[in-house]
Amino acid sequence: MIIDAHLHADCRPVEDFKNMKMARVDAIVTCAYDPLEMNKSNVSFEHFNRIVYRESKRVENEGIKLFCAVGVHPRAIPCDYEKVIEKLPEYMKEDNVISIGEIGLESLDKMEEKVFVEQLKLADENGYTVIVHTPRSNKIEVTGKIVELLDEHINPELVQLDHIDFSIVDSVIDKGYTLGITVQPLKMSTMDTVKMLNEYGFDKFVLDSDISYAPSNPLSLPETRHELEKNCVNKKNIDKVMFSNVLKFHNLKL
Ligand SMILES: [Zn+2]
Repeated sequence: MIIDAHLHADCRPVEDFKNMKMARVDAIVTCAYDPLEMNKSNVSFEHFNRIVYRESKRVENEGIKLFCAVGVHPRAIPCDYEKVIEKLPEYMKEDNVISIGEIGLESLDKMEEKVFVEQLKLADENGYTVIVHTPRSNKIEVTGKIVELLDEHINPELVQLDHIDFSIVDSVIDKGYTLGITVQPLKMSTMDTVKMLNEYGFDKFVLDSDISYAPSNPLSLPETRHELEKNCVNKKNIDKVMFSNVLKFHNLKL
C-alpha cells in the first residue's frame, strides 16, 4: 500500500489516478492551493467545493481513496480571507476532510504571516492537523520564520512540515513534527529521498508527489519504493514512509 501525503488532484487527469492505482497507490491527500486567482472568498469556496465534493468521484472511480485538506494557501489569500478561515470548521466536519492545508509562508510578507497564524491557532484549538508548505526560494530564511510561528502557536504533533530538503532538514529534525519529502522533478529526486531516509531514519517522514500544474511525476512514490527495495531497506521501514506514518499522523484508518 502507498498513501501519497500531499498532492493536487483537481488539476490532474484520471489517467494519472489509473496509473497510480496500478502502481499500488491506494489513497491520496489532495490539498487546497492556488489554481486560480483567489482574489475573493467565493473563488476559494468554489475551489474547496470542487476538491471536497466533486473530486472523489473521479479519483475513487479508479479505486483510490481521496482525503482532502482545505485552507488558505499563502499564494491564494483573498481580500476577505476571514470569511474563508471562519468556514474551515464546517468543511472539517465532512468525512473526507482530514486536515487544514496547505498553509504556510511563501515569503516574509506580513499578511501571509497573519493568515498563517490564524489558521494555526484554529487548528491548535480544535486538534486539527495542518499540512505546511515551505517555499522554493529563500527557503532557509522563510522556514526559520515558519518554525518560529509553529513553536509559538501549535502543538508540533499536529504539524506536517512539507517540502523538506537537505538545506532545512537539520533545523527541523528534532522538532515534534511529521516531515514531508516531496519527490518531484524540481524538489527532491528519488535518490536524494533514499539518501535522506537512510541518513535521518524512517520514523518522522511521510512522502508525497505534490503533483499539480507544475512539472510532476505521479509515479514518484512507487519509484521511490522500488529504489528503497533495491537498497535492501527492510519492509517495516518502507511501510512507515509509504503509508503507516501518514495514517498515524492524521489518525486515519483505511
Ligand atoms: Zn502542494
